[in-house]
Amino acid sequence: LVTLEGVGKSFGDNRVLSDVDLSVEAGEVVVVIGPSGSGKSTLCRCINRLETIDEGRILFEGNPLPAEGRELARMRSRVGMVFQSFNLFAHRTILDNVTLGPTKVLGQKRGQAEARARELLTRVGIADKADRLPRQLSGGQQQRAAIARALAMDPVLMLFDEPTSALDPEMISEVLDVMRSLAATGMTMIVVTHEMGFARSAADRVAFMADGRILEIAPPDDFFGAPKSDRARDFLARIL
Ligand code: ATP
Ligand code: MG
Repeated sequence: LVTLEGVGKSFGDNRVLSDVDLSVEAGEVVVVIGPSGSGKSTLCRCINRLETIDEGRILFEGNPLPAEGRELARMRSRVGMVFQSFNLFAHRTILDNVTLGPTKVLGQKRGQAEARARELLTRVGIADKADRLPRQLSGGQQQRAAIARALAMDPVLMLFDEPTSALDPEMISEVLDVMRSLAATGMTMIVVTHEMGFARSAADRVAFMADGRILEIAPPDDFFGAPKSDRARDFLARIL
């Protein structure tokens, strides 16, 4: 579904991604881990072209990422992104937050978009919050709303960049549970997270990044059981 070939990216003379190869199949869940500054967020942002790359290429559904215009908008609408900060529209209800994309970008009728939004809010467990404003929800509920909003666009790929790292501990599992059930539906997912329990239980493969490179990529049992690089061993020793 997504292929990165020899991707390189610099900010000024700071080389942030080097020679990144990664191929994610439809239905696959790839969890990306690694130390702060290793390029995980930049990698996600390059995949939906929030950042441009300097070297290599990225293919989405077999085609190079469109540079601009309609094609880019269309491609982006097929990639859902959920960030650490929930980025909900503060002055819109949860229901509006979820229906805005489908009505404005996909041209769905209000009624159709609302029915689908309510279905998605039920799926993430906050159907009763539809008419609230984001600030009236807990962090975990807001993040679940953000997931519902992304899903409302019917994406074929979901990118998660540390979706639980701004949450209080007791809210982390409710968001991870939603992500786990999404994975179980066959959604293709790239997930940057420090939640190793999630990586073990939900990932098909774990990619370990350091200094802008993917140093290892392997199924979780192999990776956690026997990390090959010193960097990965050090990293795991520090966080587990
Ligand atoms: P963290 O775990 O802290 O979120 P990360 O692995 O996501 O880290 P990135 O956010 O991708 O790391 O950052 C990688 C490097 O790129 C860092 O050195 C960072 O300072 C730099 N960087 C990221 N975004 C920009 C930007 N817009 N302009 C300049 N430098 C940037
Ligand atoms: Mg990051």
